[in-house]
Amino acid sequence: MSEVPAHIDFRANVQRVPPHTPVSVRKATSKFLDTRQAVVEVVSDERWQALRQAGHEIRLHTLAHLDHYLARLEEKVRDAGGIVHWARDAADANRIVVEIARAHHVTRAVKVKSMATEEIGLNHALQANGIPVLETDLGEFIIQLAGVGPSHIIAPAVHLTKEDIAALFTQKLGVDAPPDPLELCAIARARLREEFLAADLGISGANFLVAETGTLVIVTNEGNGRMCTTLPPLHIAIVGIDKVVPNWEAVNVLLKLLPRSATGQKMSAYTSFITGPRRSTEEGGPQEFHLVLLDNGRTRILKDQVTRETLLCIRCGVCLNVCPVYNHVGGHAYGFAYSGPLGAMLSTQLLGLNTAADLPFASSLCGACAEYCPVKIPIPEILLRLRRRAVEGDQIERAVAPAAIQTGAKLGALTFGIPWVYEFGTQMLKYVQAPLQRNGWLPHLPPPAHRWTMARPFPAFGAHFRAWFRKRKDEGGRMKDEE
Ligand code: SF4
Repeated sequence: MSEVPAHIDFRANVQRVPPHTPVSVRKATSKFLDTRQAVVEVVSDERWQALRQAGHEIRLHTLAHLDHYLARLEEKVRDAGGIVHWARDAADANRIVVEIARAHHVTRAVKVKSMATEEIGLNHALQANGIPVLETDLGEFIIQLAGVGPSHIIAPAVHLTKEDIAALFTQKLGVDAPPDPLELCAIARARLREEFLAADLGISGANFLVAETGTLVIVTNEGNGRMCTTLPPLHIAIVGIDKVVPNWEAVNVLLKLLPRSATGQKMSAYTSFITGPRRSTEEGGPQEFHLVLLDNGRTRILKDQVTRETLLCIRCGVCLNVCPVYNHVGGHAYGFAYSGPLGAMLSTQLLGLNTAADLPFASSLCGACAEYCPVKIPIPEILLRLRRRAVEGDQIERAVAPAAIQTGAKLGALTFGIPWVYEFGTQMLKYVQAPLQRNGWLPHLPPPAHRWTMARPFPAFGAHFRAWFRKRKDEGGRMKDEE
């Protein structure tokens, strides 16, 4: 397993986040969902489902032939004058970027929003080596000032209100910032413009890598992607190996799915296609281009036939928007760069069960994420598989759940699998819980369940479910007869 740099443990940062404001999160996610609904309706449900199926098949096909498409991509990037590096893990990727920056005597860097660089903690690595790096996406700029990680993969500062941001700008930038979105944008723009012009390194990720031509596809809504990748003389892109797609037909399909699902736009304001560094016939663009292809646990994810579909993800963020758990706890509660259902699947596998075994359990398994996912990733199925891995272990990782949980899971499977055992068990629980019960609640449970009751009481177990179910079934039968 890749070593996880301590600096990307956002759990530490959570302590420094201002009191989380779920209302601002829910407001933003429901707005994203409303606009998404409107653009999907224009497409028509039938065509939208066909697009989703096509997206799923393209991504699945690419994963099945990843070696072929990555080799082709490398060849095409080199043909276009770029330099390709392969990074096994986060430490490797950070080392490569720092070495390139040092070799070019970089004094300051500007960066496009990129989840891959959040994943590896690139900013910390550069800054630790004396290279200041400035985030240029507005949301990332804000959270960089706040000193925290992203709380949403599309809208990193979604947990903050305009009042929070105004206070932050006033404190950190030394300006009198009013809580007005336009004024706050103007302050950030003025600050960023100077940096774009002064930076000698531009850093980006990519939404897709086109194997056919060696092209990076970058979508943004602020134009900062183009500034970062064209103004500085050196451009380094750090991109997960899962972002490769075969050709432009694939891009055509995926660009119909991504902005609609992410922000409810037919297309993003800026879609940039970058192939290699500046050509001799071109006036603008970097003189040197490096592509760092990041594994960091992705090839290990490929080993499992079920969980490998995690790598189909196009990072649209709609699964976060629709997730009841994410909407209640916000992104920082997940503890890592990726949050929501995506984080529950991806972080668990990238970081390993020893670090993130609790994440697959942060789901109600309601299935809304899978219904909305534009590339039809079976998210609940993957989460169940990861839960099973945590409890029983498999060919990828050993079980990490404490013995009490493993025994509890076995007992649970036995109890729920045999109706009379279930019925007998619930009758017994009525007596066992009696000394602990207070007004229909269990305020203090013994270990290991005590961790739950440290935060909230547990409802007392009812012994009537089977009776209620039978009654309901009987009534249902009678109602049918009456019809
Ligand atoms: S898992 Fe699906 S819905 Fe979630 S971010 Fe990825 S592509 Fe979007």
